[in-house]
Amino acid sequence: MMQPIATIKRTKEIQDKYQIFTKKNYGQNFIIEPKIVEKIADYAIQDPDELVFEIGPGIGALTEFLCQKAKRVIALEIDSRLPSILQAEVKGDLTVLLQDVLETDIDQLIRSYRKPNQKVVFASNLPYYITTPILFRLFEAKEPIERITVMMQKEVGQRFLADSKDKEYNALSVITQYRCDIKKVMDVSRHVFWPKPNVDSMVLSFSFHHRYALEQEELFFEMVKACFQQRRKTIANNMGKWIKDKMQAEQILKAAGIDPETRAQQLGLEEFIKLFDEVKFYEG
Ligand code: SAM
Repeated sequence: MMQPIATIKRTKEIQDKYQIFTKKNYGQNFIIEPKIVEKIADYAIQDPDELVFEIGPGIGALTEFLCQKAKRVIALEIDSRLPSILQAEVKGDLTVLLQDVLETDIDQLIRSYRKPNQKVVFASNLPYYITTPILFRLFEAKEPIERITVMMQKEVGQRFLADSKDKEYNALSVITQYRCDIKKVMDVSRHVFWPKPNVDSMVLSFSFHHRYALEQEELFFEMVKACFQQRRKTIANNMGKWIKDKMQAEQILKAAGIDPETRAQQLGLEEFIKLFDEVKFYEG
């Protein structure tokens, strides 16, 4: 029986067969341990009818397992050498789009493939050089997403798990908590990748909880990012810069019950929401 693609033997065979080398500038580090990709696929997909989007399938290490678990997988890959290899090597209902995820309208993408009432999930061993912008795009999408299961650099993963007492806590932590419950799936050693990267990894699962539905969400995200603009400055300073009026910023903060001398990293999600209520009042 053929070994999974996520083994060093198959990976090297595929590279030899198609005469391809890995491209560092695309963050290409392929997984060579089938147990890891199987576990990611298990977390990513809870029902075979879910529509699965994979970002950066590479030569198909994870794709193969996603296709075994779900009826339909749509993969977005930037490297033009890879779609034909994936179509030849991976069995299942797989569509590979030659596409840069950062140039993709995620809402449009979902609308193009989703059947009515179908649940949508994303899975990926992310290209690490663009982890944050990819996740911001997914969290800011308006079309419904059920869950996102992704591998990323360990230090970046820790930032998502941080709460307001930790030094890693930032705007992305707040926006993510607004949208999702976050769970650590596993730590992953650098030794299960080919070529071996210089960092260890972590797999996180983000489940969208739909607990908050603020009007003008985009403005809320903008406010949170503005509050963290300069971490060492007080929240009154950062807010003041954002609305171009420091005195007014102090009043808004006081109305929200927040000491203007506080730093953004001391505030929890609920406090940002309270603050936003006052900002909306000021806006309107
Ligand atoms: N999923 C494979 C695996 O686990 O072995 C490969 C993961 S590799 C870390 C990241 C993949 O993302 C590569 O295949 C790379 O070509 C692709 N990629 C990089 N930048 C991308 C972008 N902007 N849009 C879509 N895919 C991208």
